[in-house]
Amino acid sequence: MPTKRDAFDAVVIGAGIGGLTAARTLIDNGRRVTVLESRNEVGGRLRSADVAGGALDFGATWFWPGEPRVAALVKEFDLRTHQQHLAGDAMYHEPGGSKRIDGNPLDVPSNRFADGAQSLARAIANRLPTGTVSFDDPVTAIEQRDQSLHVHHTTGTTTAADVVLAVPPALAVSRIAINPPLPARINGLARVTPVWMGNMTKVVAVYDEPFWREEGLSGSAISHYGPMRELHDMSGESGQPAAIFGFASPAAGAPTPTADDIRIQLAQLFGPNSPRPIEVIITDWRHEPDTSPSGVEQLNAYQTYGHEDYQVPALDGRLHWASTETSTINPGHIEGAIVAGMRAADSILAGTGKTTTPIAHTGKGTR
Ligand SMILES: Cc1cc2nc3c(=O)[nH]c(=O)nc-3n(C[C@H](O)[C@H](O)[C@H](O)COP(=O)(O)OP(=O)(O)OC[C@H]3O[C@@H](n4cnc5c(N)ncnc54)[C@H](O)[C@@H]3O)c2cc1C
Repeated sequence: MPTKRDAFDAVVIGAGIGGLTAARTLIDNGRRVTVLESRNEVGGRLRSADVAGGALDFGATWFWPGEPRVAALVKEFDLRTHQQHLAGDAMYHEPGGSKRIDGNPLDVPSNRFADGAQSLARAIANRLPTGTVSFDDPVTAIEQRDQSLHVHHTTGTTTAADVVLAVPPALAVSRIAINPPLPARINGLARVTPVWMGNMTKVVAVYDEPFWREEGLSGSAISHYGPMRELHDMSGESGQPAAIFGFASPAAGAPTPTADDIRIQLAQLFGPNSPRPIEVIITDWRHEPDTSPSGVEQLNAYQTYGHEDYQVPALDGRLHWASTETSTINPGHIEGAIVAGMRAADSILAGTGKTTTPIAHTGKGTR
């Protein structure tokens, strides 16, 4: 039997960097907030694994100069970072083998999180009041009634004046029933907005040593044959853990490349006698139901990123978009998700004439 729980001013759907940013900003301004997250951890498309000597990234890896919001969080939380390894020549993969390219035209200067990109999300989450995030708690429906939004999720129904939808728009409208329905124009917009990197497979090949560095190679490579189309060094600053990562983008419906496919390509790239990876970790983001709707490969309307309709809350000013795809600045990047989360929180704090209604939270509650 559901029991009455805490009262909330806002419900945030999704504990990726956008949702966490919105939650934090609202809480810092005295609002009562719960974050409902379908996975069992924070970070969303920031996913890292701790390994001896550092971390590996299976989602985002880099942040770039000119991204002040990421830089400010890195400073605030005193996160360890280092520069992307650029030195050395690149490789070009051609049929049956490869050739060396003078220099490294493939990489631009960028920064890495020494403890993995997910450390950024964990740092923000650790500053939220205990129990703010409810894990394993996917939202299935949002209903507007009595000047409030009623959010239905696995562990109950939570009611609040405002809801932050910090989920890629195409996933949100395919997975969450919204009543009354969004205007056809907005629903149509969300349905065609690509999920950034949702069509990608990220491959991480772990080695005993970064052997390519000793050979004067950067670890970067480009291939028109695949399965990986571009590769980069993903080792720790000292060379440990030693790793190379690559992006593959299988065509719609095509299978995920196997570890054997990857090992064959790496041997073609670096030579048949090159050291073999001790582990190959493959993450196909097309098949992550908490990131990508089915058919994600077919979404290509990138011009919808940061669309003006995402800047305006829906459902009478109560439903606020907050994933990176909705950002007018650096959409797709971590920086964009922060921008979107801040915009959503600011629009709630601004109030725009809404009344805050009595709040009831029923169900198992947060943990
Ligand atoms: C392979 C890959 C490489 C990338 N490389 C980079 C990079 O190098 N640099 C960079 O800046 N960016 C990169 N990105 C993009 C970056 O990861 C994203 O911009 C950012 O993490 C998006 O944050 P977000 O909060 O908008 O969305 P997400 O991280 O997708 O967060 C959404 C959250 O909502 C949750 N959720 C989904 N549905 C529901 C539901 N129904 N109920 C409750 N919760 C739900 C999800 O579990 C998730 O936690 C990369 C992404 C990928 C996948």
